[in-house]
Amino acid sequence: VLPTDYALAVENLTVSFDGFKAVDAVSLYVDKGELRVVIGPNGAGKTTLLDLICGKTRPTSGSIQFLNRELSSMAEQKIVRNGVGRKFQTPSIYPKLTVFENLEVSFPKGRGVWGSLFFSRSEEVKSRILEVAKEIYLDEDLDTEAEILSHGQKQWLEIGMLLIANPQLILLDEPVAGMSVSERKKTAELLRRISQGRSVVVIEHDMNFVREIADKVTVMHQGKVLAEGSMDKVENDEKVIEVYLGH
Ligand code: ADP
Repeated sequence: VLPTDYALAVENLTVSFDGFKAVDAVSLYVDKGELRVVIGPNGAGKTTLLDLICGKTRPTSGSIQFLNRELSSMAEQKIVRNGVGRKFQTPSIYPKLTVFENLEVSFPKGRGVWGSLFFSRSEEVKSRILEVAKEIYLDEDLDTEAEILSHGQKQWLEIGMLLIANPQLILLDEPVAGMSVSERKKTAELLRRISQGRSVVVIEHDMNFVREIADKVTVMHQGKVLAEGSMDKVENDEKVIEVYLGH
């Protein structure tokens, strides 16, 4: 299989901070329709890897091809317009706006003055908002102010704010941190569902959750890929066991 056959092909990606390689010659290939989970101890380079893919951090060397477009030197906003959505750990919802309004402001507007002028509550926008609200289990809370949602519902709303633009690659940082058992279950369902026809890359620490959602797992350690494959394969990998027991 050629690298260009994958939706996302990260090759030999490196970033140095004052000579320290936070991500060190990482290659990673993710299919369309695949949900990839990246695991590894603290400081392994997982967050930095996602920062590089979404353009928040610039690589020192290497390439990031997504649907055959090179992202590694593209501006962050242009990466978004090229179908990449990233959810950070820090909340980015508007607490005083309703669920509907949070989704509405996330709807991609046409560029420039004309795009903004003609952006209104058109039927197209409304129906997309309702569709997404349903996907994220918030269709009965459209008029609820975001700040009074549960922690889990806030996380779903953030995922919804990404989904509005229908990104083809979704990058998520610890999506179930702090969630209740039932919220985790629904999040697993949600992630499985949104990965259909898209590529999803998730950083996760909870191994039970990883097992539940991952098509394939990439284990990072000290900026490098230590192991990759099914959960069964990587958890029996001696190098992986050593890294996890050593911590
Ligand atoms: P993980 O997400 O796996 O816990 P990170 O990607 O956050 O790991 O960090 C990897 C390493 O890179 C850490 O040692 C961190 O301190 C370092 N690092 C990350 N970003 C920067 C930066 N902007 N400047 C300097 N060091 C950084």
